[in-house]
Amino acid sequence: MEATQELQENKIYKPNPKKYANRKKKKTIEDTYDIKDTVPLEIGLGFINTFKSTKERFPLKGTPIKFNSLRLRTFLEKGCTCKVCGRKGTHFKIQKNKTDRQYHIGLWSDDDVQMTKDHIIPKSAGGKDAIDNMQTLCMKCNVAKGSQSMEEFLKSRDKRWKITHSLKHLNS
Ligand SMILES: [Zn+2]
Repeated sequence: MEATQELQENKIYKPNPKKYANRKKKKTIEDTYDIKDTVPLEIGLGFINTFKSTKERFPLKGTPIKFNSLRLRTFLEKGCTCKVCGRKGTHFKIQKNKTDRQYHIGLWSDDDVQMTKDHIIPKSAGGKDAIDNMQTLCMKCNVAKGSQSMEEFLKSRDKRWKITHSLKHLNS
């Protein structure tokens, strides 16, 4: 029996439908969070600015929210744009993780990427939990940066870019 015929008879080529059914779908915002409402950027920043020094919750569109976190202060003081890719946080969502009791606000871009605070010098390298050591990054860049310092991250990114670029150049 020829090898190809054998393969066909053993149905090795036939995709297993169960495997495809169980394959994980891309997670959407709604899979992770309960979203209650959307708040325009300027309104959200106004609330953060007004209530940044108080521990109490204040109602935003009727939902009690805390505004004194270092994360929200980072957006207020360091801006709502990702320092690496330039993605812009354009609106807040009143959201909570499925398992949480209380709501908080998250900053999101128009292409549904959440904005995060990032330690410029990572905590693992002695970086402090202080506003001076914070910058705004989108979730994608934050994950890519991992526990590297900003300097290490940009250096490794440049290197990768140069390799990709020179490969493209060779192929063209
Ligand atoms: Zn980014």
